[in-house]
Amino acid sequence: MKPKERLAIPRQKAPELAVDYRIKNFDEVALGYDEKTAILEANRCLQCKKPTCREGCPIHNNIPVFIEHLRNGRFVEGYWAIRDTSSLPAVCSRVCPHEFQCEGSCIRGKKGDPVAIGLLERFLVDWMVSNKKNLAVPCALPKDKKVAIIGSGPAGMTTAYHLAHEGYHCTIFESLPVFGGMLAVGIPPYRLPRDIINAEFDSLKNCGVTVVNNFTIGKDLPMQQLKDEKGFDAVFVSVGAHNSRKLGLEGEDLEGVTHGVDYLRRVCLGEKINLGSKVVVVGGGNVAIDVARTALRTGSKDVFILYRRTKKEMPASLAEIHHLEEEGVHIEFLASPVKIHGENGRVARVECQRMTLGDCDASGRCRPVVIEGSNFMIEADAIIPAISQKVDHTADRNLKVELTSWGTYVVDPLTLQTSVPWIFSGGDSVLGPQTAAKAVYQGKVAAESIKLYLEGKDLKEGRNVRILS
Ligand SMILES: Cc1cc2nc3c(=O)[nH]c(=O)nc-3n(C[C@H](O)[C@H](O)[C@H](O)COP(=O)(O)OP(=O)(O)OC[C@H]3O[C@@H](n4cnc5c(N)ncnc54)[C@H](O)[C@@H]3O)c2cc1C
Repeated sequence: MKPKERLAIPRQKAPELAVDYRIKNFDEVALGYDEKTAILEANRCLQCKKPTCREGCPIHNNIPVFIEHLRNGRFVEGYWAIRDTSSLPAVCSRVCPHEFQCEGSCIRGKKGDPVAIGLLERFLVDWMVSNKKNLAVPCALPKDKKVAIIGSGPAGMTTAYHLAHEGYHCTIFESLPVFGGMLAVGIPPYRLPRDIINAEFDSLKNCGVTVVNNFTIGKDLPMQQLKDEKGFDAVFVSVGAHNSRKLGLEGEDLEGVTHGVDYLRRVCLGEKINLGSKVVVVGGGNVAIDVARTALRTGSKDVFILYRRTKKEMPASLAEIHHLEEEGVHIEFLASPVKIHGENGRVARVECQRMTLGDCDASGRCRPVVIEGSNFMIEADAIIPAISQKVDHTADRNLKVELTSWGTYVVDPLTLQTSVPWIFSGGDSVLGPQTAAKAVYQGKVAAESIKLYLEGKDLKEGRNVRILS
């Protein structure tokens, strides 16, 4: 096919569940490509001489190679080209904000729509599963060193995956009853079905990884004892960022105020929560959007999002914003809460101020500025602030591990080793709330460092690791 013919193919859409049906349940909304559509979309790739898509992928997947296999019908080879670098392709192909990562760097996207790299990756994984192909990498013979991994999110899963395949015995300790971290208790099932996460844990267990749930390091066992008494030679701390940041407003303690990740966690763990009819969500990221869409699915009728900038600045992915608007959530742009008013101890309304955009920083992001005298009220049965999260430090209680002013772990950017040599850290606990792909990448870097550490080798020699922010 000539480049001109490839350029003439429009970006292929994948089917989605109808709005009326999907807002009543948690079924997966986005459906994948069929074989014919996937090959057609793969034919849009120009196989650039200097592809930039790989740079845009935090995991550095070999995108041109897997697309070339796909369009020639070599689906198994295509899958393994991804698996070479990614421990969680079924997850990343569904939840990565592709437009800011690989697709955002796709050269075709400079003039028109980028190649739908995420959907092509998803096609290959789903094809392997539905055709019952082997997805597992052979396990290595056991070695005598043991590694403890604290937290079962994508960073911990990836470290366990790589170390287990080197033969090291890994135990993942997880404080919650379910495994997967924010993949399981943050991202709702309509974006990431739980059987996908569970399949990854089955495969880890098949490779000898021990998984322990309902066990909080720092509470049920001090981290120091993992090393001194339980025989672990190294520890990877991948505890994520699960503590909600507060708005700091009067009325935030009223009944009816629940913070975003706390609400999603409770729903994901099976609690039936009725927020009432009118819900106001504060924030503009993925968490705010998932809260709003979840509230609709649990019976709320009028769901508002308050965001202090405009749509252009929203950090959430475009696909999520599109789905949100389709489902009927109203976004009140350039508005910020100033006080939560209650009646009889319960939330009744939220007082807001109008904002305008002021000075912009070097990246073009503009500062929201209050318009004086613009206060207005929104009636609400529930308010859900979803503005950010910070790291919970139960795990390192009584240990002197150096932290940043943000409360994340200070690590060597090349090795992810903390100020305590036997402790490594990665994912959101180092980066702050970020993305699954960045957690996967850091999990892989940490596994390489821990292996060198266990072998008594220089952790830095010959390594050139990309630092993520
Ligand atoms: C609502 C929501 C939507 C998101 N949407 C997206 C998206 O669309 N795309 C994307 O790429 N990213 C998304 N993210 C972000 C992504 O989920 C995280 O960046 C990623 O999960 C971080 O991985 P992690 O392994 O560092 O930590 P986590 O996934 O947070 O896992 C940490 C785990 O450690 C456990 N833990 C904590 N302390 C202890 C302890 N002391 N002992 C034992 N266990 C402990 C926690 O219970 C948790 O299970 C979203 C996040 C949220 C909250």
